[in-house]
Amino acid sequence: MTRNVLIIITFISLFVSCHQPPNFIGFTYPDGNTKALILSYDDGTIQDIELAALFDKNHLIGTFNLNSKYLGVTRGWPQQDGDTIYQRYVPKDSLLIIYKNHEIAAHGALHKNFTAISKEEILEEINTDLEVLEKLTNRNIISMAYPFGSTNDSIANLIASTGIKNGRTVDDTHTFDLPNNYMIWHPTCHDSKALDYLDSYLELDRQQLSVFYVWGHSWEFGNKERWDNMVTFCETIGTSNDIWSVGHGELTNYLLAIENVQIDHNKIVNPLDNEPIWVRLSSGIEKLSPGESITIKQ
Ligand SMILES: [Zn+2]
Repeated sequence: MTRNVLIIITFISLFVSCHQPPNFIGFTYPDGNTKALILSYDDGTIQDIELAALFDKNHLIGTFNLNSKYLGVTRGWPQQDGDTIYQRYVPKDSLLIIYKNHEIAAHGALHKNFTAISKEEILEEINTDLEVLEKLTNRNIISMAYPFGSTNDSIANLIASTGIKNGRTVDDTHTFDLPNNYMIWHPTCHDSKALDYLDSYLELDRQQLSVFYVWGHSWEFGNKERWDNMVTFCETIGTSNDIWSVGHGELTNYLLAIENVQIDHNKIVNPLDNEPIWVRLSSGIEKLSPGESITIKQ
């Protein structure tokens, strides 16, 4: 008799524990990943063709920041030592071929230094990029990189008013942390240092969201050693299966979507007009489609 009671109690407690709502641990990227990779390249010179092909070959996504008024032209850039470097820019009619699998972003129509020009000129630089690039690609442009990396709080606020959702500087953090301000987004490192951080990112094992943010210029790969290092970097990180290779805009949109999720004492609600988001619960990874909710332990 006592044995039967014990068995019943065990079954009841098992049943109850199985139906306890899970604990909410945190948000993840799609499919439960917590690591992400951004490859952000500036200026839109023709060397982007080979770099985008390298990304394609390794199933990586790049973000290419273009100067819309230089598309299709060749121009000389005077150097401090008196030399002039000539750059050829990708042709207008090939953007959707070269960057088919990649994000196209703004970089100022004429690559002017935003800290040295008026508010009106800054808006002209960005709005021209948005107008030209959106017309040529039929895409919504939401990312940008500051020409020369130059910005400050008021410039960042001004650019946010155009509908741009992120802005990248060239102030390397040498960390994999997400920024506080998406409009002043400091990258992890220039690509010349990317291999130095590769192993530590591959080995990183934490539940907190992170990003390995690499930036550079494809025209710098004229140096063979630099190019070979980039090939090694892409081939290695391209085979990792727990890193989300993503455009800067898509990552930003995902992070903004997380901010829209409502969490009260026992429920996580993904609003109907939001995008799908993923959460880590004590019971495992769950995807929350727009309009869905999950009951969690108080
Ligand atoms: Zn640039």
